[in-house]
Amino acid sequence: MRSAPTILHLDMDAFYASAEQAAKPSLRGKPVVVGGIGPRGVVATASYEARVFGVRSAMATAQARRLCPNAAYLTPRFSLYRDISEVVMGLLRALSPLVEPLSLDEAFVDLEAGGVEPTAAAVRAVGERLRRDIRAATGLSGSVGLAASKMLAKIASEDAKPDGLLLIEAGTELEMLRPMSVRVIPGVGPATAETLRRAGINTVAETAEAGEAELVRLLGKAHGSGLYALATGHDDRPVVAERDAKSVSVEDTFEEDLTDRTRVQLEIARLADRCVQRLRAAGRSGRTVVIKVRSYDFSTLTRSETLRGPTDDPAVVREAAARLIDGVDTTTGVRLLGVGVSGLADYTQEDLFAQAASEASAAAAAAADAAGGAEPARGSGEEPGEDAGAVERPRRWLPGLDVHHAEYGAGWVQGSGVGRVTVRFETPWSEPGRVRTFAVGDPDLEPGEPLPLVRAALPGGDAARPAPAQATVPGPGPSESTAPEDVPGTPDPASPEPGPATNAAAAGPESGPGLGPGPGAEPGPGPAADSGVVSGALADPAPEEAPGSVADPGSLSGSAPGPGPAVGRGADPGPGPVPGGPGNGPGPASGSRPVPGMSRR
Ligand SMILES: [Mg+2]
Repeated sequence: MRSAPTILHLDMDAFYASAEQAAKPSLRGKPVVVGGIGPRGVVATASYEARVFGVRSAMATAQARRLCPNAAYLTPRFSLYRDISEVVMGLLRALSPLVEPLSLDEAFVDLEAGGVEPTAAAVRAVGERLRRDIRAATGLSGSVGLAASKMLAKIASEDAKPDGLLLIEAGTELEMLRPMSVRVIPGVGPATAETLRRAGINTVAETAEAGEAELVRLLGKAHGSGLYALATGHDDRPVVAERDAKSVSVEDTFEEDLTDRTRVQLEIARLADRCVQRLRAAGRSGRTVVIKVRSYDFSTLTRSETLRGPTDDPAVVREAAARLIDGVDTTTGVRLLGVGVSGLADYTQEDLFAQAASEASAAAAAAADAAGGAEPARGSGEEPGEDAGAVERPRRWLPGLDVHHAEYGAGWVQGSGVGRVTVRFETPWSEPGRVRTFAVGDPDLEPGEPLPLVRAALPGGDAARPAPAQATVPGPGPSESTAPEDVPGTPDPASPEPGPATNAAAAGPESGPGLGPGPGAEPGPGPAADSGVVSGALADPAPEEAPGSVADPGSLSGSAPGPGPAVGRGADPGPGPVPGGPGNGPGPASGSRPVPGMSRR
């Protein structure tokens, strides 16, 4: 434990849902649920308005619909969330070289390593300025916890939510911690808590009083000793910068289970390329290639192969991943695929791999052909082949996705069914917009790109804003990086975790317990970097869930609850099919506010 509260924990408030509310003026102040909207979908994030009804992250979407039938149920737009995340992480990196992302919207920052004076006043000022900068740059709010340890900083940010800052003064930590439930301690999930409860241990104070020997007896040596240390305030876990992470990985969840072998191989090749792009972006290389395969029934397996030395060659990684998938039976249907590289090194020894690379180049060329003539990506921003794949798939008008209409401009899908798609035409900077319904095949209607939430983020608009020490912040615009991925109808890129495998709790508080098959997917920052690619970033539980296959009638009655909004052509400014509900009507302008983002309550 440090002598000053110089560890900062940032957690964006209801991140996905807040981003959607900022993007869609008609949803501000309304219950919004982002997640899988299909029959087996899971809630990724619920807006605070939806939480009032008991909707929680990691809950089955079907249950959420029962609790809050009038919420807007939206499919995630990960490319937008990633863009926002990059901006936020850029602001954090301007504060310190030691930034440890836990998920797209959550990270630890070691302010002491950033040269901030180790006093309560100085760190508080940094935290407040950070919150202002985040709002200015993204239009969204984040909560900040400041404390002398990671555990306490995270507890503090949770306590500060929404849209707040809490600093735990050095010396007061134990007093604050003692009455809290033992569940606040990282690593204590439902099972451990139940074991402790049966032994009469419920609070942090009772945990400390039980003594180390008793905790070891109950939980085993490693867990018992670790728990005792944390319960007595001994948390010296360092903030581990992203570059020190042990692995990099990417994964995709598919709308419909993949059964076609060729398609599975193709997806693995794409994931390998994407993984290498991330590896290279981080200036790293790695020795062990891992694949992850989740079946239709959620059973998950991983396979790994360790190379002779570290590589960042896409052909080498692709080839290893291809060998690994060859050994896996996928005939029953694959729901999720992932590729990771672990055993990371800071340097690349491409020379070691010259041979392997040339051997692999033939295979690479073949895979590229299969991917529609795309070239293997070498350090370029976008993976090729994605579009080629999208063309083959039928266009899906999933609720929440961006569209563009030749006459009416930018909008988003509010619902679809029986051959119709209902679109609300509004932008992050407009008044709440009107709804129009089209035939599904209307040639004037096309998938659109996510728009930046903050106008200044558009190219050329940045200069107007005072930007304290953040020259390196990447613009959130749909610039080079990931935008094209979100063509409706393609499987949503599932887990674009920023903090490569820092720990299995990557999804943080929004992940909730008990869901992921991922081991140790307990809330709370697990001890530093997790060993496995797969159990780390890849093991992300459901929050990143892509929509399950969507029965269109479902999205009609669900996402557009009103009595048949999709029918009846033309404008529908009235009770607003999506979120509305009685007494909740959008009433144009009622929801608009100058700063999009967090709706305060
Ligand atoms: Mg959050």
